[in-house]
Amino acid sequence: RDITGIHIDTYHLLSSMSASIAHEVRNPMTTVKGYLQLLMEKEDWGSYKDTFLLMVSELDRANAIISQYLSLANNKFIEKRQHNLNSIIEYMLPLIESDASKGDVCIIAALGTIPDLMLDEQEIRQLMLNLSRNAIEAMNHGGHLTFKTYTEAEEIILEISDEGEGIPPEVRREIFNPFFTTKETGTGLGLAVSRSIAERHRARLEVKQSGREGTTFVVRFPFSRDSICSPGELANESTIQFN
Ligand code: ADP
Ligand code: MG
Repeated sequence: RDITGIHIDTYHLLSSMSASIAHEVRNPMTTVKGYLQLLMEKEDWGSYKDTFLLMVSELDRANAIISQYLSLANNKFIEKRQHNLNSIIEYMLPLIESDASKGDVCIIAALGTIPDLMLDEQEIRQLMLNLSRNAIEAMNHGGHLTFKTYTEAEEIILEISDEGEGIPPEVRREIFNPFFTTKETGTGLGLAVSRSIAERHRARLEVKQSGREGTTFVVRFPFSRDSICSPGELANESTIQFN
């Protein structure tokens, strides 16, 4: 976009902004959270206890949004280690379940036998959380949230499906744009962040299908020698990649 004649790359702007926001805003937030927790312990606040808990959880929410901005930064360090997608899914299930239970959503995990990949675990968790939150938010009337993993030709596939309302065709081209949202309180960052996480893993994130019966997002990890290692090999080694 052209602002006062200077061409500014959205991603460069975001990445430098998010780095300074992280530093300047996160630290005072951590201090406030610490003092709130201290105050909570110091006295018996009776009915105000819920207010304190709300304040702490709102701080956590703001912090999570800052993390999403940071994930969009294109100069991010990622630390890849040997992981299996299935174990990351299993680790995330209880967390996702607590989100799902509020919306009458039932989780199905259909995990196939897949080889390990070189992954940044934190980032893959974030990607799974973003996609499953969207899936749950799409299912106002409940339904199934399905995780599926399998190998296909040259790829290891992760699918996350819901039985929600589907993505209207007229917005389908925009959903991966940063800040695009159709939700009243949405940030529009979930899919943009998830796609940049996929790209840092040389993977592709796409909508496989979407309609009245629901939506399936697919992440395709390349099945190549530098992204895959056989069990045992490279067990304690980590690859730090500067993107
Ligand atoms: P946010 O969730 O904050 O709106 P996202 O980047 O996560 O931002 O998603 C962008 C938009 O894509 C959503 O507002 C919604 O319109 C659409 N979307 C994403 N996932 C789904 C889904 N599983 N079903 C229907 N629509 C979806
Ligand atoms: Mg979202």
